[in-house]
Amino acid sequence: MSKNQPLIFEMSKPGRISHSLPECDVPEVDLAELLPEEFVRTNEPELPEVSELQLMRHYTALSKRNHGVDSGFYPLGSCTMKYNPKINENVARYEGFAHIHPYQEEEQVQGALELLFELQESLAEITGMDEVTLQPAAGAHGEWTGLMLIRAYHEANGDTKRTKVIVPDSAHGTNPASATVAGFDSITVRTDDNGLVDLEHLKEVVGEDTAALMLTNPNTLGLFEEHIVEMATIIHNAGGKLYYDGANSNAILGIARPGDMGFDVVHLNLHKTFTGPHGGGGPGSGPVGVKKDLIPYLPKPLIVKDGETYRLDYNRPESIGRVKPYYGNFGINVRAYTYIRTMGPVGLRLVSEYAVLNANYMMRRLEPYFDLPYQQHCKHEFVISGKRQKKLGVRTLDMAKRLLDFGYHPPTIYFPLNVEECMMIEPTETESKETLDEFIDVMIQIAKEVDDNPEIVQEAPHHTVIGRLDETTAARKPVLRYEKEM
Ligand SMILES: *Cc1c(COP(=O)(O)O)cnc(C)c1O
Repeated sequence: MSKNQPLIFEMSKPGRISHSLPECDVPEVDLAELLPEEFVRTNEPELPEVSELQLMRHYTALSKRNHGVDSGFYPLGSCTMKYNPKINENVARYEGFAHIHPYQEEEQVQGALELLFELQESLAEITGMDEVTLQPAAGAHGEWTGLMLIRAYHEANGDTKRTKVIVPDSAHGTNPASATVAGFDSITVRTDDNGLVDLEHLKEVVGEDTAALMLTNPNTLGLFEEHIVEMATIIHNAGGKLYYDGANSNAILGIARPGDMGFDVVHLNLHKTFTGPHGGGGPGSGPVGVKKDLIPYLPKPLIVKDGETYRLDYNRPESIGRVKPYYGNFGINVRAYTYIRTMGPVGLRLVSEYAVLNANYMMRRLEPYFDLPYQQHCKHEFVISGKRQKKLGVRTLDMAKRLLDFGYHPPTIYFPLNVEECMMIEPTETESKETLDEFIDVMIQIAKEVDDNPEIVQEAPHHTVIGRLDETTAARKPVLRYEKEM
C-alpha cells in the first residue's frame, strides 16, 4: 500500500464515471418549476469523477490503514476489545430482525419483543438486579439514566438535600461527568496504597448530602474492591445508594454479582463485555439494572410478558420518562442476546476466568521490565508504570507509539490518572497464549530499546502511514475540510 494515497478528489478526471445506469424512461422534471427558488441549487457540487476500479482500490487501501480486533491484538485497557463472534452478525441480519419497523403493531413483532424481554431477564440474572431497561444507548448514557433514577428515588422520599455523588479518583472520566449532567456535585474519594478506595476518607466525605457512591469493581486499576460490603453499609447507613459502573464486567461474569455486593443500580456496556462491535462512535447499548425500590422510576416503556404475549408497558406514572426513542439500539441488543445464548452460564464464567488468567500471566511476565504499582493479583486488566523508563528520557507515550511499529494497538495510557506514566493493559479472554507471548516479547524488546537506543522509541512510529502526530493541534485545531491546493 502506498504511503501517499491521494485523495479521491485528486484522482478525479472530468467525465470519468463508476456507474452505468439505464436510460431514464420517465419524463424529466425541472426542479426549478416544482420547488421554491431558495431550495434550488444553482451551482453543481464538485464531486470526484473516478472509475469503479479506482473507487474500489481507493477505499480498500484506506480500509487497510485501520486497526481492528479482526486485524490484530488490541489490548486497550477498560475497553474490552475482545473478538466479536460473527454469528452475532448473522443473527442481527435475520430478516425478521433487520427489516422490522419500530412503528409496527406489537402483535407483529412478538419475536423481537420476546428477545428483548429475555435479554432483560438474562442481564438481571447476571448482575443480581430485579429489573432492567435496555433503552440507554451507551455506557455514559446508562450512567446518567441510573443517576436520574437515584435522583427520582430521593425526591420521591422528600430527600431533596442529597446533592452529592462520591466518585473514586481512579474512576472512568464519564462517572464525574454523568454525575454533573444529572445535576449532582461530584466529590472525589482517594485511592489508598493498595489501589483500593480509602475507607477512612470515604467515611469523611459521606454524609446526609450523599445521593450515591459510584464505583467500578474491579476498579480501573484491575483490582477488586475487597471491602465492598463494608462500603455498601457505610453508604446505605447514610441513606445513599450504590451505583455500579459495569461497563467492563469481563472479570465477574458467573463469579460475582453487583446485586450481591450491595449495589442498587448497575449499567452494562453490551458493546464491551457482551461482544457488540465498538469504536468509531457506536452504536452501543448501556442497559441499566436496578433493585426493587428503584423499579418505579425506570424509563418507559418496559417490555413485559402477559401470559404468552409480550407488550410495551407505558403505564408507569413515576417513570423518569423515555431516555431513547423506540427500543434502544436493537441491533446491538440482538448481538448481546446471541452471545449470551451461545455462551450459556458455563461459557460466561469461563470468559471471566480466562480474562483474569490472561491478564495475570501478562502482568507477571512484564513485571521485571516495568514498575508495577500494585503487587496483588489483578482481575481482567492491570496497570504498569513507565516511571523507570521516564528517568531515561522515554515517556509512556513514546512506548505506546513504538508498539504501532509492531502492528499492535497500544494499551490505554495515562489512565487511571492516579498512576504516573500509566499503561493499562487488558488482553481479554479471546487471545491465544501465542498472541500474549508475542506481545510480551515486543514489550520486553521496547524496554531494552529504552536502555540501549532510546531515540528509536522517542521518535516512533517509523513504519506507519503517518509518523508522530502533533496531538494537541490535531485536537484543538482539527482540519476537517478538504481544501484544494491551487
Ligand atoms: C467504557 C467505559 C465507560 C463509558 O462507556 P461508553 O459506552 O463509552 O459511554 C464507563 N465506565 C467504564 C469503566 C468504561 O470502561
